Amino acid sequence: MSILISNVSKVYGTQYALNNVSFEVKKGEIVGFLGPNGAGKSTMMKIITCFIPPTEGDVSVCGFDIWNDSIEVRKRIGYLSESNPLYHDMYVREFLEFIADIYHINNKKQRIEEIIEMTRLEIEQHKRIGALSRGYKQRVGLAQALIHDPEVLILDEPTTGLDPNQLVEFRELIRQCGKQKTVLLSTHIMQEVEAMCNRVIIINNGIIVADNSMQDLKEKVTSFRKTKQGHELSMEEVFHFLTKG
Ligand code: ADP
Ligand code: MG
Repeated sequence: MSILISNVSKVYGTQYALNNVSFEVKKGEIVGFLGPNGAGKSTMMKIITCFIPPTEGDVSVCGFDIWNDSIEVRKRIGYLSESNPLYHDMYVREFLEFIADIYHINNKKQRIEEIIEMTRLEIEQHKRIGALSRGYKQRVGLAQALIHDPEVLILDEPTTGLDPNQLVEFRELIRQCGKQKTVLLSTHIMQEVEAMCNRVIIINNGIIVADNSMQDLKEKVTSFRKTKQGHELSMEEVFHFLTKG
């Protein structure tokens, strides 16, 4: 098992951002973590990546426990956080070298070449990060997440803010890069999980409300759409349907 979440809760003041959440992600799965804003997606991801501790519960990644082996957990995870923090005054290559040094990567030069090719950063590789478009900034974010060849990729709303062309290209990139990895990808867009994932976990108000294979979810949503006689479904309606179903 790549990711094991057992009875995790996170309380901010009096608010439960996560309320007794449990799920597992198997090696090689690409799992969509779907939910509306404020559902608890980022909080869950910050806990898995050891950025914040849970209030209660346990998490292990590739057999390592976040409480006792957080360094081992971090070594195995590539994380593209929601805000994609980058140093805008650094050049693309300079930044990737900086990240490679943090991970003590051998063959740094060769690895940076590989990663630039893999994330298709070639034509922008000599620019200052601040000068890049949103789509290329996300590629740099993905490159830093992949540079140490982690087993697990955690991507927090990686496609938010991309224009339609960038969106298609970036989804394809994630699909390619995720082939040999376990991927947990958050989004609030249903089409996104349809395009990329083989399983979907839906979270709402800090509670897991559905956990389906992509096939099952598609069938459920299709049958629900039929009952609505062609009327275009909003995300709220789909969530509502899945929650009560
Ligand atoms: P999502 O990523 O699904 O949009 P988040 O995990 O960011 O949701 O947030 C879940 C809930 O927890 C939200 O109501 C949010 O306002 C709250 N929250 C998140 N971080 C903090 C924090 N540091 N302090 C207080 N409340 C927070
Ligand atoms: Mg979020």
